[in-house]
Amino acid sequence: MINYMRKVNYKFSSASVDIFFDASFGQLSKLVDQKNAVIITDENIFSLHRKKFKNWNVITLKPGEEFKIQLTADAIIEQLIEFRADRSTTLIGVGGGVVTDLTGYVASIYMRGISFAFVPTSLLAMVDASIGGKNGVDVGAFKNLVGTIRQPLFLLYDYSFLKTLPEIEWSNGFAEIIKHACIFDKELFELLKCSDLNKMKKNAKLLSSIIEKNVDLKSTVVKKDEFEKGDRKLLNFGHTLGHALETQYELTHGQAVALGMVFASWLSERLSGLKNSLELIEVLTKYKLPTLAFFDAERVFNVLSMDKKRVSSKMNFILLKKYGKGMVHPISLDQLKKHVVGYAKLNKTGR
Ligand code: ADP
Ligand code: ZN
Repeated sequence: MINYMRKVNYKFSSASVDIFFDASFGQLSKLVDQKNAVIITDENIFSLHRKKFKNWNVITLKPGEEFKIQLTADAIIEQLIEFRADRSTTLIGVGGGVVTDLTGYVASIYMRGISFAFVPTSLLAMVDASIGGKNGVDVGAFKNLVGTIRQPLFLLYDYSFLKTLPEIEWSNGFAEIIKHACIFDKELFELLKCSDLNKMKKNAKLLSSIIEKNVDLKSTVVKKDEFEKGDRKLLNFGHTLGHALETQYELTHGQAVALGMVFASWLSERLSGLKNSLELIEVLTKYKLPTLAFFDAERVFNVLSMDKKRVSSKMNFILLKKYGKGMVHPISLDQLKKHVVGYAKLNKTGR
């Protein structure tokens, strides 16, 4: 197969990151010294793409968010010692967001920091998780409580990994793509509306252009606001209620964010002049994401009010002015609670 690898570079304050689009995994050995690199991946990816890993040092993790914990980081460190990894070693995370988060975190602390790179293999990691330099592990119920911000040397995109991605993971990735469209890009929103999950999976050209667009949207906002003082906050659209639902119910991240976005758009109709929140419901449905949640408002609000992003009794909630334009809306917890309770009631009784 001929691959026309395309290089794009983003300069962050602390580092410059090369992104190789339309690349193939085989090209990795041209970018790093195979003998002095250690790949971190998970059992699913390793067993589905075994051939790709030949001749590499590999550490294979158990898949799943429940293993994104310090204990796994410690186990990786022990294996790195066995591999005699030193300051000149490069770690390469080949996987979804869990793998890339753990790789970036361990690389930031091993010997006070060694270099690392990513080959994102899930749609979610391609468009969101592997960009921005945030890494870390969960502690109990607290997601990403411990971690660092550090940029990878490079990211390599090999779309052939997507051939084995389970359907639910496709929807998870599209939840973040729809989020980016809602807050930044009306054109992307319209494009998503004109297609659906099955069509996207079959249209490699359209998909790769959408992935590149999303990498650009996220990298640009992170570059402008590395420390989350302004526009980067918009990336939390759908995530405040979303995270709370995710901890309380059996939902994937994408499903929870979808429900969070539906609530946020409903609220946007009331507070920030959004017209037609049904449009978002339509788009989410096309990508097989849920739009209706029956939840215990009291219980969910209690978790929501513990959100990391809360500042005393106020919270910065992300709303839409219109599709393609997100905004930060400071709201008191009391007010927000009224809305969450009202919305939960409405969902129960039907819209
Ligand atoms: P994220 O959704 O943040 O990317 P994970 O790292 O947990 O989170 O990945 C989601 C799931 O998808 C995991 O079970 C992982 O093993 C699996 N996965 C990731 N990439 C692929 C792929 N290319 N083919 C098959 N399964 C994959
Ligand atoms: Zn998310």
